[in-house]
This record gives sequence, structure tokens and C-alpha cells, in this order.
Amino acid sequence: MVLDGVAIAAEIKAEVKKEVEALAAKGIKPGLAVILVGEDPASQIYVRSKVKTCGELGIASTMITPDASISTEELLKIVDGLNADDEVDGILIQLPLPKQVDTKRLLEAVRPEKDVDGFHPINVGRLQTGKGGLAPCTPAGIIEILKRTKLPIAGQHAVVVGRSDIVGKPAAMMLLNESATVTVCHSKTKDLAAETLRADILVAAIGRPGFITEEMVKPGAVLIDVGINRMEDAADVELYFPGNTARAEGFAKRGYTVIGDIDPRAFAKASAYTPVPGGVGALTIAMLMQNTLTAARARRALA
Ligand code: NDP
Repeated sequence: MVLDGVAIAAEIKAEVKKEVEALAAKGIKPGLAVILVGEDPASQIYVRSKVKTCGELGIASTMITPDASISTEELLKIVDGLNADDEVDGILIQLPLPKQVDTKRLLEAVRPEKDVDGFHPINVGRLQTGKGGLAPCTPAGIIEILKRTKLPIAGQHAVVVGRSDIVGKPAAMMLLNESATVTVCHSKTKDLAAETLRADILVAAIGRPGFITEEMVKPGAVLIDVGINRMEDAADVELYFPGNTARAEGFAKRGYTVIGDIDPRAFAKASAYTPVPGGVGALTIAMLMQNTLTAARARRALA
């Protein structure tokens, strides 16, 4: 079964839109402020997409675009202003930030109630203790995919490959909160295949194209591929997507294709899997919208 992230994201966005409309009837408009430092092309695409989705759902959005040379102190002033702004329910600082900026200090300066990325230590702690708070969007999207397709989590053995603060660790914590038995793997894991072969639910958040191969997957497993990697070699496209004309045509048009961390040839062994693109990645913005709504409701005491 293909787990259609685009369809699930559309479902979530429609629910958020309906709730935003209900708030509008009470004279409330949730607001998201996005800080985009510099001109990183990938970040620009992500931010544009976030702002566009806000517009579609009736959420107000502001974009603050300081120059790449901005200092930590100057950015802290911007964050302070947004923290105090009553119209702003969510603050998102697009990462990565330029080298001279103290990212940790900045993320910790965002008021936890407005931290729609879920990166503030207070929200990390709340996730750990299972007590509400705002959860990181990509891992939250993974849970939504599993729940909305009614795939069991409780009692399943979930193996998460990757332990970043943004994906791996919070994904592991959320799976644990859903009563999965969780194993977290990383670059120092001794026998990775032995671990992944035990997975009923395998989450790959590594950042290496096609890294999880067929031999590393238990038959019938649910495969959740978080990786987003560019593939620029035509021979690799033929190797990983043999006979896939849509891929070949897309590659011919753009000069690259996107592949996850799981070798697509392993999908045949799975009971369900998220494709790349169109899987987990599709959920991230929908969950950001959901978090902005949650933040607005909580902050305005409507929860
Ligand atoms: P990081 O680079 O921060 O983390 C990668 C993790 O993979 C690390 O924990 C690392 O281990 C582990 N790892 C690296 N090599 C190996 C190996 N050989 N064996 C086992 N583990 C290994 O990446 P992110 O978590 O930020 O992102 C992971 C992927 O997800 C990327 O492809 C990224 O593009 C994608 N992504 C997609 C999003 C979306 O769908 N919207 C959002 C965020 C990310 P160690 O800690 O030991 O170094």
C-alpha cells in the first residue's frame, strides 16, 4: 500500500481551514511570522510554500527577510518584537541560519507558546513527558500518516534510523508515546541491518540516497522514508527506478530526481510505504498549519 502523503496533507489542511473559518466568525485570525535570513534558494522555496499555504487556509502570515549579514543580537530583537506581538501566534525561524548566528540562542528566545516548529527545549521536554506542547512538524506528520491509515503503532517494534533533534529523536519519542517499542539507530550503530530487520515500522531519517536496502527490510514492514535527496546521475536513476518512465521523463526535464533514504526497490517487500516525493515531506507544512492553529487556540484561551 502506498501511503499517500499528499492526500493526507490535503485532509489535514481542509480540517485546519474549517477551524480557521470558525475562529474568523469570532473575529480571530491566527497569524504566523516567518523569519527568512539571507537568500538560500531552498529556504526561499520552503518559506514561499509555507506563506502560500497560510493564505489558502485563511491564516495571516508575515515574512521578515533580514540580510544574511545580520547579527544574533539584531535577530533577537526581531524575535522579541514577534514574541510581544499579539497578532502573531506562531514564529518560525527558517533553518539553516548563517554561520555568525547563534541558532541555539535564537531558537530558545522564541516564546514556547509560539514555537510552531517545536524546537524550544520547553516543547522538547513536554514531548518527552507526553504533556501537550507543540511537536516538531515532520515527526508529527509521520504519526498522522500512521494513524490516519489506521496502521497499528502500539506494541509494534519501531526502528528509527537517525537521531537528529529535528526528525529522528522526536520521531522516536512520539512513537514511544504511542506505545511502540522503539530502537534508535545512528552512525555508530554496530550492526544496522540486524536492527532494521526487526522493524515492524522502519523510519529512515538519514540523508543518504537509497541507504536502506531491500536486504535490510523485514517482509511486511511499514516503511516511512523521511529522506529527501537529489539524484543527478542518469545511471543512478536507471538503477534505482528501472523501467519507471515518469521518473526518467522528470529527470530528463529537470536534470535531477528526488529519492529518499530507502532504496525504492525495497518497497515491494513492505506492507505499506511512503513514497518520495509525495510521502512524509508533503505533511510537514500541513502540520505547521495545524501547530499555528493549536498555538492560536491555546494562546487565546480557546483550547
Ligand atoms: P541529520 O544529518 O541531522 O541526521 C542524520 C542522522 O542519520 C544522524 O543521526 C546520523 O547519525 C544518521 N546517519 C548518518 N549516516 C548513517 C549511517 N551510515 N548509518 C546509520 N545512521 C546514519 O539529518 P536530518 O535528520 O535533518 O534529516 C534526515 C533526512 O530527512 C534528510 O534527507 C533530510 O533532507 C530529510 N528531511 C526531510 C524533511 C521533510 O520531509 N520535510 C524535514 C527534515 C529533514 P549520527 O547522529 O551518529 O551522526
